[in-house]
Amino acid sequence: MKKLKQIYEGKAKILYETESPELLIQYFKDDATAFNAKKKGTISQKGVMNNKISAKIFEFLQAQGIPTHFEKLLSEREMLVKRVAIVPVEVIIRNKAAGSLSRLLDLPEGKKLACPILEFCYKEDRLGDPMITEYHIRALELATDEEIKTISQYAIKVNELMSRFFLKLNLELIDFKLEFGRYQGKIILADEISPDTCRLWEVGTGKKLDKDRFRQDLGNIEEAYQEVLSRVTK
Ligand code: UDP
Repeated sequence: MKKLKQIYEGKAKILYETESPELLIQYFKDDATAFNAKKKGTISQKGVMNNKISAKIFEFLQAQGIPTHFEKLLSEREMLVKRVAIVPVEVIIRNKAAGSLSRLLDLPEGKKLACPILEFCYKEDRLGDPMITEYHIRALELATDEEIKTISQYAIKVNELMSRFFLKLNLELIDFKLEFGRYQGKIILADEISPDTCRLWEVGTGKKLDKDRFRQDLGNIEEAYQEVLSRVTK
């Protein structure tokens, strides 16, 4: 599949058109940002690792009945994906308190939640992706009622599937972010699923194997991503 015109460059990925109007090439960069891009850096080989980790997770979810944009791996840093129109809403699911939830409600990191929390954020860098509710989504016409319902159901199912998937690898899924897109009139899972977008703690030790190592300057970032990759692909 030939890489044609670049149509988008984000913080961690670049999208290129292909000969097929239905398909794009998603290229993973080593660039890392945190705290609404106030902190910037690079994580060596991150693009290679996130490409492979995302591919494995998309394949797993697809096999479990969640439609995703993933088609196939093309190279170390590239995957072929379906061309979707991204719904400008980020969906976050949390199983334990961490990050912005801990800050928002003054909850100790790692506090168990009685049930998972589903949050929506408006995907708008200029505003720092503010948290919104279903009412904002409807009022601003970011998605229809039916789409919100489908997205929520998929997100909850993805949480159940991924929590089990990672637990088998001795990793606890603390929280994660999903993005969905519209493809041929249907909602499908898009973007990436990687240590950039999930918090993963090693069972037993509580060791952080995700982007918090970058956010919090914990060191050994590349090793953490590599550890996730080797568990996911073993
Ligand atoms: N997350 C993400 N992209 C974002 C914001 C959050 O992938 O733009 C992920 C993040 O890695 C974590 C979860 O969503 O796994 C919850 O993030 P949180 O709101 O705690 O964000 P923080 O402010 O700590 O980055």
